Amino acid sequence: MPHTAGRHFLQIPGPSNVPDRILRAIDRPTIDHRGPEFQQLGLEVVSGMKRILNTAGAVVIYPSSGTGAWEAALMNTLSPNDKVLMYETGQFATLWKNLATRLGLQPEFIGGGWDGGVDAAAVEQRLREDKAHAIKALCVVHNETSTAVTSNIAEVRKAIDRAKHPALLMVDTISGLGSIEYRHDDWGVDVTIAGSQKGLMLPPGLAFNAISDKALAASKTAKMPRSYWSWEEMLGPIKNGYFPYTPATNLLYGLREAIAMLEEEGLDNVFRRHDRHAEATRRAVMTWGLDMPCKNETEYSSVLTAVRMPEGHSEIAFRKVVLDNFNMSLGSGLGKFTDKVFRIGHLGDFNDLTLMGALAGVEMGLALAKVPHHKGGVDAAMASLTENEIKSIT
Ligand SMILES: *Cc1c(COP(=O)(O)O)cnc(C)c1O
Repeated sequence: MPHTAGRHFLQIPGPSNVPDRILRAIDRPTIDHRGPEFQQLGLEVVSGMKRILNTAGAVVIYPSSGTGAWEAALMNTLSPNDKVLMYETGQFATLWKNLATRLGLQPEFIGGGWDGGVDAAAVEQRLREDKAHAIKALCVVHNETSTAVTSNIAEVRKAIDRAKHPALLMVDTISGLGSIEYRHDDWGVDVTIAGSQKGLMLPPGLAFNAISDKALAASKTAKMPRSYWSWEEMLGPIKNGYFPYTPATNLLYGLREAIAMLEEEGLDNVFRRHDRHAEATRRAVMTWGLDMPCKNETEYSSVLTAVRMPEGHSEIAFRKVVLDNFNMSLGSGLGKFTDKVFRIGHLGDFNDLTLMGALAGVEMGLALAKVPHHKGGVDAAMASLTENEIKSIT
């Protein structure tokens, strides 16, 4: 590949751009993971993640992609053939459901149109019907990255409580954590699944489970086999800052830095920054005259924006034009959105001018790829940013 000047624009919705501060933090010698220096690091990152996840309960960190933490959540709490209720928000919910099937569980999928979030009323109704409590867990995706839809997890919790159903609530916030509000304890989540390479601004390679007391109790009697993913094996050493096998030490240096950066900015400010960039992006998309899959304004994701291509136009061809001309990667259409929807990631280490660069690349790409659209999206986004000026919460 010939050299290209300037920075690559990595505007996919994860992995997100890794800030220099985190790269510098990772760029250090690997230390003895059984030694005293590591212990300090281990204790710091676990307690830091409890603050980011808003939990006082147990947190485990795996050297894996987010998918590993999906598997860990199910393997630690369930038994073979258990019924789990899952909700089809999009491709990531579908992948989690497929994983549950392969593990020998019996997922029941509440169908969705890939145009909205979890319908709490539908969940409540299904749980009420389950008088025998055959359903052992409800699994939902907080921020569905294939459709750019955020579900209201607090409402899902209320639906379970109204149905007086004992199912565990498991929530995938792999692409939400660190970008939009997440409250493991307050929302009554039993197992949270998170990953390193999205809002946490790290390279891929770390995954997390936050675990409620109820989920921990379930893990004592659950019969799914587990070893690498075993919470029990993890939680003993983690109390003292250690791991049962070699952790991803250098990524943990990065995690310590990421937590520091999020807390220096203030999580509320981080969330407002994401909301503001998402709002400006949607204004651009609406000005271009393009559609978004999400049909409910209250469920628009602040992490990314999904954009539907006009009929007869290919998102694959469009993204190739943008990459070839502007050295920018946009997110592809996933699952049934393949070649129909592209995604603009505006998460992580991201500011107004990164957004304007990304949106300018999209608008120029639309023109070059001869995709029918109205001009002025970039102007509309600039107007949105200057109208909603940055207000810092101190
Ligand atoms: C990225 C993502 C995953 C998959 O995570 P990996 O790290 O690729 O295994 C799962 N769920 C959601 C919502 C995601 O955005």
